[in-house]
Amino acid sequence: MFNPIDIRKDFPVLEKYVYLDSAATTQTPRQAVEAMCDYFYKYAANHGRGAHRLARETTNHYEDAREAVAGFICGEYEHTIFTRNTTESINMVALGLDWGEGDHVVTTHVEHHSNLLPWLRLKEKGVEVTAVAPNPDGTVDPGNIDSAITEQTKLVAITHVSNVFGSVMDVEEITKIAQRNGCMSLVDAAQSVGHMPFDVKKIDCDFMAVSGHKGMFGPQGTGVLYLKDTDSIKPAYLGGGTIYALNGDDYKLEDAPGRFEYGTPNIPGVIGLGRSVEYVKSLGVEDIQRHEEALARDAAKRLSKIDKVEVYGPQDRAAVVPFNVVGLNPHDVAMILDETRKICVRSGYHCAIPSIKLLKVEGTIRASFGAYNLTEEVDLLVDTVEQIATTLA
Ligand code: PMP
Repeated sequence: MFNPIDIRKDFPVLEKYVYLDSAATTQTPRQAVEAMCDYFYKYAANHGRGAHRLARETTNHYEDAREAVAGFICGEYEHTIFTRNTTESINMVALGLDWGEGDHVVTTHVEHHSNLLPWLRLKEKGVEVTAVAPNPDGTVDPGNIDSAITEQTKLVAITHVSNVFGSVMDVEEITKIAQRNGCMSLVDAAQSVGHMPFDVKKIDCDFMAVSGHKGMFGPQGTGVLYLKDTDSIKPAYLGGGTIYALNGDDYKLEDAPGRFEYGTPNIPGVIGLGRSVEYVKSLGVEDIQRHEEALARDAAKRLSKIDKVEVYGPQDRAAVVPFNVVGLNPHDVAMILDETRKICVRSGYHCAIPSIKLLKVEGTIRASFGAYNLTEEVDLLVDTVEQIATTLA
């Protein structure tokens, strides 16, 4: 039975704080922290580089984590590359594809900077970038993606869930549109994996990027790049672990995933991530989605009824609620929420300046939810915002 009160017992930090910033990073369950402690205390060694028992044990745990994460996103083991975060995963695609003068990328104005800057930088190579405008609520019409695609379009890069609006994009449809037009697709799943059922094969994108420290409850410094075709990109970086033969100047790349995992990876982090996805699975992703979205929709509805409070984003939203108290700076409101009630929310432009510009504001306050949040926390947020709006705005 999904019970947030029981779930909270696995997150000691929640005893003291009202944590409504899971879109930035989630808390890590005790089980995953213990798996990382086990690595350090019981068997730490390097991965894939040694015959001794500790190296073998480390490699086994690391590869078990890959199995767990690949299963969690419904993908294949060899196609699941560990990275440091969503940002690195996306950059690996931008650096790993062959670009020529006149190639074209279609993206949108609701992207996190991580899914925008790697494409904008390609302009140096003569690549053109079109960013499609979303609707005022942050949703993107697949038809507008279709219209932006030209003969030269090589890639469509889109977020699954906007970290500013909480809007959910129809990535299955957008991927189909890309395929129909003969181009590749990349889905930024930073705000969706773990928050909603996610099947990378069903979405059928060429590339999927995600961080471990968000909906998968893993530690910071872990991420995944999923490749439909492991030959579709060249490794952006080479070094230890990426080749199997070196003869003079000539080298032969390892098969995937090894060829993409350069140097010593975040071994404890990956092992923690493997444990944390098992944890998320045990809670049930459907239940997590139902719970988080109910909290977010309730919060949005109640906040929007407060005089001088503006709430942004669609009604059917994921677990993200952006708002402002008219006349007050979002950072000041966030500070007051923390200082008075220990409510932790994000404020500012959320690494997504184009989205904030669309809202015609300087920034927003963002409450975001995880499996461990309670209705009582929404009550406290709404009451405190109401007090702030009536006394200060
Ligand atoms: N994309 C989206 C939609 C995000 O919300 C975030 C994190 N806020 C990122 C990319 C970047 O994630 P990371 O910092 O872990 O690379």
